[in-house]
Amino acid sequence: MVSISTRLEQVRTRIAAACTAAQRPAGDVTLLAVSKTFGADAVREAHAAGQRAFGENYIQEALAKIESLADLRAQLHWHLIGPIQSNKSRAVAENFDWVHAVDRLKIAQRLSDQRPDHLPPLQVCLQVNISGEASKSGLAPAEVAGVAKAVAALPRLRLRGLMAIPEPAGDIEAQRVPHRALHALFERLRADGLPLDTLSMGMSADLEAAIAEGATLVRVGTAIFGGRG
Ligand SMILES: *Cc1c(COP(=O)(O)O)cnc(C)c1O
Repeated sequence: MVSISTRLEQVRTRIAAACTAAQRPAGDVTLLAVSKTFGADAVREAHAAGQRAFGENYIQEALAKIESLADLRAQLHWHLIGPIQSNKSRAVAENFDWVHAVDRLKIAQRLSDQRPDHLPPLQVCLQVNISGEASKSGLAPAEVAGVAKAVAALPRLRLRGLMAIPEPAGDIEAQRVPHRALHALFERLRADGLPLDTLSMGMSADLEAAIAEGATLVRVGTAIFGGRG
């Protein structure tokens, strides 16, 4: 079996090659290692190989992992990339550094109210339903500017950017289409005066397309930790 450190190195190489192809500096893209369904030991192994940012989908699972990795807490950045149920917002505000899937102002308000004063502001991305699928969560593109302005004004949050999970597509040209649309929306918000710096898009299967279209953070699970069964 290929080790986590070898797989991490392979993903770093893919990211560097995609940056070179896009004529972007290698340091432009942050790798978020998506450790959902894998145990604390896998996170420890990735940490030992230099990885610091980890993404989780399920709040209960993540809280247990954060707890068992308490000795590394100061070095790790925990990102919640899955949906936030309102009855779990306090645990999210108290335990995570970032949340990527904010898609309602109401949840953002709760997170801001519940973020403890001794912690830095919670770093936030708004999730956008960029492929327009009825079943997926995320704000419709037309709703984003209004919500972004309201979220940016909340005292205990810092709005960093946009996130999307585009519909899977077979080839890189098709994969680039929704990523390009999210980037265009991101640039419109910036032109409107919002100081955004994070475009969270790209996963194991489409990180090259996402980086070609301006991703600054890619969320990679399978290519690092293996299949989730
Ligand atoms: C699981 C997940 C990922 C990682 O997907 P892989 O295909 O395993 O790289 C990225 N983003 C979100 C929101 C996820 O739920």
